[in-house]
Amino acid sequence: MSALLRIRWTIAPKTAPRPLINCNRCGGTKPYQCSEKFRVNANGKRIDAWLIYRCINCENSWNFGILERCNRRDIEPALLAALESNDPALARRHAFDTTAIRSRIGRVEEFSEVAVRKQVLDGGQENTVALELQLELEMPTSLRLDRLLAVELGISRSRLQVWEDKRLLVVAPEGPRPCAGRPARAR
Ligand SMILES: [Zn+2]
Repeated sequence: MSALLRIRWTIAPKTAPRPLINCNRCGGTKPYQCSEKFRVNANGKRIDAWLIYRCINCENSWNFGILERCNRRDIEPALLAALESNDPALARRHAFDTTAIRSRIGRVEEFSEVAVRKQVLDGGQENTVALELQLELEMPTSLRLDRLLAVELGISRSRLQVWEDKRLLVVAPEGPRPCAGRPARAR
């Protein structure tokens, strides 16, 4: 019999960030949405690959460079096959790479909604006195840790703050206080 209930939350962001681009077709700054399709261009031995984005208003495209003038023999065959078949996992990995997108475009619209998959690891008997949550992030998210805990546990953020002040809520590894506005990052 364990007094500890251990649960794992696997957290995946729901909506890919959208670069804000000055659209030269419909005019003005518009969010561009990931099409989840790649374009691969082979010019002799040189390969370029882009992830295609479309203006949400006029469908105009923007190409997010993934490979730029790479020598074919330097590219893993599996990677090339994934690009050519619009592999969803590969598209997702690049579509959620906010840092890389921001380095090209500057302004990016981010979304904090996440999907949380919950799995009981052990414990949960009648005498449970403590809950241990293991958070696994598929990728970095802009969601704040206190907001995630409040929504998923169904309690207010002020209550979380009280727990933290009384040391009833402890975060490991130790870092900034969870109620101080720290975005949830990988463990
Ligand atoms: Zn447009």
